[in-house]
Amino acid sequence: MTERDSKIFSLTHKNQLATFFLAALIDKERLRVSPMNLANQFILSGIKLLPKALVKRFAMRYIAGEKLDDAVRVVSAINLKRMMGTMDVLGENISTREESLAAVRECEEVLHAINQNHLDANLSIKLTQFGLKIDKEFCHSNVKRLIKIAAGYNNFIRIDMEDSSTTGETLQLYGRLRSEGYENVGVVIQANMRRSEEDVRKLVSLKPNIRLCKGAYIEPEAIAFRGKDEIRLNYLKLLEMLFKGKCHVGIATHDDFLVGSAYQRIPEMNLQKSDYEFQMLYGVKSKLRDRIVADGHRLRVYVPFGRSWHAYSIRRFKENPQMVRYVLRALFFPEG
Ligand SMILES: Cc1cc2nc3c(=O)[nH]c(=O)nc-3n(C[C@H](O)[C@H](O)[C@H](O)COP(=O)(O)OP(=O)(O)OC[C@H]3O[C@@H](n4cnc5c(N)ncnc54)[C@H](O)[C@@H]3O)c2cc1C
Repeated sequence: MTERDSKIFSLTHKNQLATFFLAALIDKERLRVSPMNLANQFILSGIKLLPKALVKRFAMRYIAGEKLDDAVRVVSAINLKRMMGTMDVLGENISTREESLAAVRECEEVLHAINQNHLDANLSIKLTQFGLKIDKEFCHSNVKRLIKIAAGYNNFIRIDMEDSSTTGETLQLYGRLRSEGYENVGVVIQANMRRSEEDVRKLVSLKPNIRLCKGAYIEPEAIAFRGKDEIRLNYLKLLEMLFKGKCHVGIATHDDFLVGSAYQRIPEMNLQKSDYEFQMLYGVKSKLRDRIVADGHRLRVYVPFGRSWHAYSIRRFKENPQMVRYVLRALFFPEG
């Protein structure tokens, strides 16, 4: 923390802590379901209220930087380690057409930069960034534009999955793009969602390129699994369905148990290297990343960059209990 950040922080320290703990107390849902201890819960529930300067300091381990050049530099380094990349221009839930069009332009720049710099990387996008919640047709045409540019470079676009308010529409848009003949596009399935089994069943006939992840959003129990074991179990069930359906799978996890289970199924199912890849987030478990590559598997690193780093960072913090300790230290010993 810089000297200025520390001063600002000290001035508002008491008020913030009060609001912070209050927010944690009223967040009963989260307190009930998480296995973490109470102190961690307080921090995690109130983390959105932390000063941005403090969040930024921790956020930068998960983000390449604010500029495209930063992402190009990080992906070049990743490529040197025999890993592929997927770039993500941070930003979601934008509210105007102008913002969407600006996001499209930024993504076009990314596709051009990947080509110009001969990077082994593709692009991940979020539909709410392209106007899904403004006008579906507008969103469709924005995404189509990017897919066409990517196709010109023999590249690929991955549509990330966002919270449950977007699942149906995201899968619909993906299905529509495929029915229009676009092959260089893939989507994401979240193992925490109860609907995912049915979604995979419907998707399999398209031989889709699917990234399978646990799911980063806290969803109501009625529509989502909450327990660690049931999410793992569903992940493995979906992975099996995708493998059997001869889909290309991005096995997106840092969970040693799931990586180990995938390791076991790959030879048993006689899969070729080109049938699957492991995927991990930039800044998370680099030793596991290195081991997967050393073991001869393909691996892609998700590299986010851009000015809108806040929402993304908060989601990553909530997944990392270790972060709680660092944040606590910075909260109570801001000079340290
Ligand atoms: C490439 C990629 C793309 C993704 N795309 C999406 C998407 O489109 N939609 C979506 O909802 N979710 C997405 N996710 C996030 C995913 O759903 C999970 O929230 C996230 O990966 C954590 O789950 P996990 O499988 O790694 O298991 P966890 O049990 O959460 O993690 C296993 C271990 O990994 C380490 N770890 C995990 N996260 C962190 C972290 N942030 N910091 C430090 N250590 C950590 C910890 O040691 C933890 O014990 C993506 C994940 C990856 C890897």
